[in-house]
Amino acid sequence: MAAPHPPAPSPAGEGEQKSLSEWERDIPADMKGRGQDLGSLTEVKMSIYLGIDIGASTVKLGLWDAEKGVIGDRLDNPSRASEGPDATINVIKSAATEICKTHNINPQDLKAIGACCPTPIDPSGLCVYPTNIDHSWQGVNVKQKLSDSFNLPALLLNDGDAAAYREYAVRETQHQSSSSMAQFITGTGLGGALIINGKIFCAPGVAAELGHILTDSSDTADVCGCGAKGCAETRASLLGLRNMVKHRQAQGNVPEALQGDPMEVAKTLRQLGQSENPLQDVTDIWHEYFTNLGRAARTVLNIVGCDLIVISGGAQEKQPNASEASYQRFKTDAIGWIRHEIDHSFPHLKNTRVEWSIDTLSDSAAYGAAQYASIILP
Ligand SMILES: [Zn+2]
Repeated sequence: MAAPHPPAPSPAGEGEQKSLSEWERDIPADMKGRGQDLGSLTEVKMSIYLGIDIGASTVKLGLWDAEKGVIGDRLDNPSRASEGPDATINVIKSAATEICKTHNINPQDLKAIGACCPTPIDPSGLCVYPTNIDHSWQGVNVKQKLSDSFNLPALLLNDGDAAAYREYAVRETQHQSSSSMAQFITGTGLGGALIINGKIFCAPGVAAELGHILTDSSDTADVCGCGAKGCAETRASLLGLRNMVKHRQAQGNVPEALQGDPMEVAKTLRQLGQSENPLQDVTDIWHEYFTNLGRAARTVLNIVGCDLIVISGGAQEKQPNASEASYQRFKTDAIGWIRHEIDHSFPHLKNTRVEWSIDTLSDSAAYGAAQYASIILP
């Protein structure tokens, strides 16, 4: 979780500063008509941010205009993260040139960079430890590398925080936000974030890792990737689905649909859960999944007292072959199971909302990082 950073001083050396005429020459022809004085040139330069979502396998770039919103489509490329941060920075530099060219934008006219990484981030922009990326990223100041590479101010966030900020920003525009929002991001693991009074809750090192809240103290609790036992992530994630399949297989008598490699079966469970008449075993697995999510949400309420819990990610996706009615039933059941855990302890918290994400852009962490950069590096 990255702390807000003060705007970095311009990294460009005196000798590299462009003259006004050089800036003007670089401005796309269709933008030149907006004015000839320094004021209007500054206006052209100043509102577009580059968002970058660095993942273990893919790096996603998007352009975001503080006044007009998302510009064009996202550009995804293999991240080469296993070759180390410098290989990924090279991928990003080429991709940034490409996406800027597509939209007739001079990269040097960008206002700043908002990036995110699948690791805890410290306030200086350093990857604290490589939870979901190659070990060569540990202790690397990715924010500084980006800033140096582009001669631009940069911001580095945890990817879950960036995705949650995007959700918060979308909700703001639709008057559905909250001053105290927790988000659970379901996927292979279980990510989390807290947005408090419009700012990402952060701390040096680790913060709001909601997937690692203890929710299962039973004899069959599984060891989590973090080393602890019984984390919410060991149930409410793709890995959790795999764990639950494995336990059922060990007990024997599982229906044919749940036989075979547990991870492969886990990948079919969303489809099975959104079918017309799901098998009881399938319903039981999803019940356990969302019950654990509800327990984690309850703990968040105990500590922070959020009035909005948002669920996003893989569990929310609609299977292409699912009917709208089955999909809605799946989602309604899930919210009900989460609510049951919250209401059990807090029956008076009627105004605490538990909702699915309303952000319609998929994998929008790059835009969340860019939007947060526009707040922190205005
Ligand atoms: Zn854990």
